[in-house]
Amino acid sequence: MSHAATRQSDNAASVACRHLATRDGRSFCTLAETMAGKGKAIPVSQRQCEECLKCPDRTNAVTIGMTLIHLRREDPDLYEEAKLKWLPVLNQQSWSAMAKVSRYAASTLEWFRAGRPVRSDSEVTRILRLCQSNECGDYEARGDDRGMCRACGCMLNLYGGLFNKIRRATEHCPKEYW
Ligand code: SF4
Ligand code: SF4
Repeated sequence: MSHAATRQSDNAASVACRHLATRDGRSFCTLAETMAGKGKAIPVSQRQCEECLKCPDRTNAVTIGMTLIHLRREDPDLYEEAKLKWLPVLNQQSWSAMAKVSRYAASTLEWFRAGRPVRSDSEVTRILRLCQSNECGDYEARGDDRGMCRACGCMLNLYGGLFNKIRRATEHCPKEYW
């Protein structure tokens, strides 16, 4: 695959990683592109890179997760192929080692192993409103309907499961509010 790319720093994601590339002002993960195959460009954010770098291995829950979620949306046939190839790799990674380096990575691994179960939109909205009421004292607003739980460090919003603790049916409130 050829990339007319500028490496790192002057774009949304700015981390020291040889797999980070910039094209037309957007950041892409070339490792995820290789995982996806057939020249699929996989956009990457600062947040994803920061989580990825917490793991010693770049082939991890973040890069596999973003590859599969991107393909599922953009190319269902290629998604089925990639799932057969990469889910076993994810499943071979040690739960305890992952949990030590990144709670997010461990949560992602558990979520994938369970088949990526998700809560409904109405349930996610109900839970986010509960978090936003800040009865627990640990909700930190990060914009409209976006926040972070200070008790566990997870992102809370109305989006899909890749970066939203509430959406993942495998996740629960660390203070047992939900
Ligand atoms: S997701 Fe990971 S491998 Fe990809 S560019 Fe970011 S740090 Fe590098
Ligand atoms: S997940 Fe629980 S502890 Fe965290 S902000 Fe929501 S209600 Fe509070």
